[in-house]
Amino acid sequence: MSRELHSLLRQAARVLVLSHQQPDGDALGSTLGLLHLLEGQGKRVWAYSQGPLPEEYLFLPGRERISADLPAAAEIDLAVLLDCHQPQRIGRAAGEFLAGLAAPSVVIDHHQGAVDFGRAAWVDPGYAATSEMLAILAGELGWAMTAQAATCLFVGLQTDTGSFRYANTTPRCLRVAADLVQAGAPVWPISQEVYATRPQRLRLMGRIMEGLSLEQGGRLAVGQVTQADLAAARAEAPDLEQAVETLRLIPGVDTAMLLRETPEGGVKVSLRSRGEVDVSQVAIALGGGGHKNAAGVTLAGTLPAVRAQVGRLLAQRMGA
Ligand code: 5GP
Ligand code: MN
Repeated sequence: MSRELHSLLRQAARVLVLSHQQPDGDALGSTLGLLHLLEGQGKRVWAYSQGPLPEEYLFLPGRERISADLPAAAEIDLAVLLDCHQPQRIGRAAGEFLAGLAAPSVVIDHHQGAVDFGRAAWVDPGYAATSEMLAILAGELGWAMTAQAATCLFVGLQTDTGSFRYANTTPRCLRVAADLVQAGAPVWPISQEVYATRPQRLRLMGRIMEGLSLEQGGRLAVGQVTQADLAAARAEAPDLEQAVETLRLIPGVDTAMLLRETPEGGVKVSLRSRGEVDVSQVAIALGGGGHKNAAGVTLAGTLPAVRAQVGRLLAQRMGA
């Protein structure tokens, strides 16, 4: 990581921390983890998320500090963009705010793709989670790891590794997890919150499974959710967190696609793979992004049109 990033973080007294819209466990865990770490250094901190916040993360310590309002630009010495490296991923208002900000922005992220934003950027897809990077950063800077910070960062690491099951679970990431538990992250209380059984999610999962389609000789699983499905299950978009992983784990499936109609009339596409199929290439080609085995994009168009368009690109990637 660059010395410039170190010194910008050390010197700033008033810091705005932001992460991507439709935040997941790592976006929220890294945002709040960094908030606690910076406050431990006596800094003034604002945490921004456009939301919506999935229910399972509302227990995170400091969650009430997350706001969808931005501070006045003059109040900020430094903006830290986490778990994404494109300002448009934070949402329009915050993206425009950063573009017009006189103070420097820095980026800490583990997603694939070219980085052309920020005074200093530490972007490395070799890390399982942005939360993992922040735990290491805290150690390098000699910042105290409190139980609150450790809890938030543990959740980021736990969720981005699928509870330490995915291929991104390295020895380093398990060591960082051990350090976070040592610092006070309570594993079982956290797991009960993050993996709580939620009836509306199971109803929604039932509808996805009813409509499940296995294509490419059983290698590609495709599920979809309409606005009517959400209403019938009495569920909301954040209830789909973790749903696409269920499709990927079907024996024989190596690539999974979950499509959701958005209220704006577009389609949110979530892609997952195991093994060699690089779904980030498909997402990036369509204007989205992600990692080799987990990527996404939101596209204009009807559900059937987007399904056919992305399905064709996936089939090409899968060598069909
Ligand atoms: P999910 O399918 O869970 O929304 O996202 C999977 C991965 O792809 C996450 O790492 C997420 O940050 C990334 N991703 C999802 N949607 C987008 C998008 O529209 N643009 C970019 N750049 N990345 C995305
Ligand atoms: Mn992440």
